[in-house]
Amino acid sequence: MPKAAILYEVHKPLEVADVAVQNPKAGEVLVRVAAAGVCHSDLHVMHGDLPANLPVVIGHEGSGVVEAVGEGVTSVAPGDHVILVWRAPCGECFYCRRKLPALCDEASKIRFTGRLNDGTSRFSRDGQEIKHFSGVSSFAERTVLPEQGVVKIRKDVPIEKAALVGCAVMTGVGAVINTAKVQAGDRVVVFGAGGVGLNIVQGAAMVGAEKIIAVDLLDNKLAYARQFGATHTLNGAKENVVEAVKELTDGLGADYAFDAIGNVKILEQGLACIRKAGALVCVGMPNHQAQLAFTVFPFILSEKRILSSIYGSADPWVDFPKLLNLYAAGKLKLDELISREYTIDQVNEAFRALEAGEVARSIVRFA
Ligand code: ZN
Ligand code: ZN
Repeated sequence: MPKAAILYEVHKPLEVADVAVQNPKAGEVLVRVAAAGVCHSDLHVMHGDLPANLPVVIGHEGSGVVEAVGEGVTSVAPGDHVILVWRAPCGECFYCRRKLPALCDEASKIRFTGRLNDGTSRFSRDGQEIKHFSGVSSFAERTVLPEQGVVKIRKDVPIEKAALVGCAVMTGVGAVINTAKVQAGDRVVVFGAGGVGLNIVQGAAMVGAEKIIAVDLLDNKLAYARQFGATHTLNGAKENVVEAVKELTDGLGADYAFDAIGNVKILEQGLACIRKAGALVCVGMPNHQAQLAFTVFPFILSEKRILSSIYGSADPWVDFPKLLNLYAAGKLKLDELISREYTIDQVNEAFRALEAGEVARSIVRFA
């Protein structure tokens, strides 16, 4: 039986155990997972900051090889390399029809029920139903997804590196290119230099932002940010970030401030860091009940904008292959993102290191 990392209770370690995985039903795909990225959103679920239906096989960033397909599946076949999509769009709703699949209403349902489209789960342990996480559950040797939850990719890119495109890279680079549409010459400040923040930095570098100011509380992460294209770094524990950003932008403020942390204090700082008509882009996931308050009068006078970005406003079938092409062309960093590799048995250690800020990104790699 395949091994999987199961969350039974919040604030408790994950349990790594054998689970039964059913064959894919009509419209579903069985994937042998190659690698799963260790992302903060999983940690938020483990801490109870984001709700999930428990017990659940966690993991929402991953890549793998198709092993079997259910009836009617046409977009992939056994042997195909795929990246897993944590918001599998239905293709037919208001937003899907308008080419905004990241906003699909059906995708949210899978996220919160933990069950696939027919209302059931493919995972169980000793007869007990175990839920899917975001329709992905990549911390498992085998997982079943809806057909719309896998994107076929080129085979010449190392499959474990492609895993990162499924969340961190898409979310970060997409926030810059798709959501904010940063232009060459723009000045950008990025709060948080973890997996998503580093990809905001490299997205901004890719489109030719003039200044890319990375902010973090840890100097080792600011060093990562410079590697990914930050032109300036600020340690938020030691410096007055708002003043420093103003100084670096001729007293105006940045064109864009990206929050990759999901913290209300940082959103307030971000709003203070941008120039008139600049935009604050909310990317990081806060506690699901967090609220942002601000004084409306100066906000109106300044024409500042607050944008939000989910999954980098991605169309995974367009954007995942594009990002892998950029990697193959030497224009997107993936190798440098992976600080460490773990086995599935070390998954709790992987989350400890993530929480301690020791890594840019780590992956759990399956044999
Ligand atoms: Zn993620
Ligand atoms: Zn839809």
